[in-house]
Amino acid sequence: MKLSMTNLPTDDSTRHVLGISGGKDSAALAIYIKECYPEVHEKVEYFFTDTGAELKEVYEFLDKLEAYLGKEIVRLSSGKDFDHWLKLHNEYLPSPQQRWCTRVMKIKPFEAFVGDDPVISYIGIRADENREGYISRKETIKPIFPFIEDGLIRDDIFQMLEDTVGIPEYYQWRSRSGCYFCFFQRQDEWLGLKRNHPELFEKAKAFEKRKREKYDWADGKQEIEGHGYTWSSQGSIDELVERAETREKKNGIIVKTNNTNERWQDSLRNDDDDDPEDQSCLICSL
Ligand code: SF4
Repeated sequence: MKLSMTNLPTDDSTRHVLGISGGKDSAALAIYIKECYPEVHEKVEYFFTDTGAELKEVYEFLDKLEAYLGKEIVRLSSGKDFDHWLKLHNEYLPSPQQRWCTRVMKIKPFEAFVGDDPVISYIGIRADENREGYISRKETIKPIFPFIEDGLIRDDIFQMLEDTVGIPEYYQWRSRSGCYFCFFQRQDEWLGLKRNHPELFEKAKAFEKRKREKYDWADGKQEIEGHGYTWSSQGSIDELVERAETREKKNGIIVKTNNTNERWQDSLRNDDDDDPEDQSCLICSL
């Protein structure tokens, strides 16, 4: 029988889990479940997989959400920081094609958390989206999509957040949660990082500038740089920001700021900012 919100297993051995990414949709799903399915809320284990590279706004938002839910959001982690994993990957920065960061810092801790227990994993993909979330290959983990089942769309999610914990502050200049250096950021989001968290922008830049060497049998030790050593295949983040600034000079403000009479929450809501090309793993950004 197909798994649905009206047809959930009632046995005590099945675990119910909901991953909070720090983004709007997973937070709204937790709120929705608390409000509309209180008996499920009682059973759900909320968790957040911390890469150690999140924005401080994400932690503030998690605290608010935890207070609203009245339940702990369990913090998971890989036990090591990004630097450790980067060294293990020969200093090769992750990218959409080589997304080792999601695998080691998000998926593995999650799979260790659930072990081999039978699990129902609640996922916040909306009825107006056409994309797939992280679906585990583990047979024991079954996904369920309450928003799709109940027909909730983007506007419902904003309304729910506005009525409860608010929209995470970083949505003023960034369209996703996740690591401050996430390579899925658009040029204007890198510019937003530079303006809102200059120290994190400098840290992201420092990863690109690390000295890397390879040994060639003919030429001996060689310094290397280029794609794989920048966050984007389009160039260094300084170059991306420069392009965004040039566009801004030409077209006017592109990094959202609260410089009109409209509240930023309203302009965000009216703006269809969800990127249809967004290929990011939704375990990070949903
Ligand atoms: S947020 Fe981006 S950089 Fe961080 S783990 Fe996810 S895909 Fe990787």
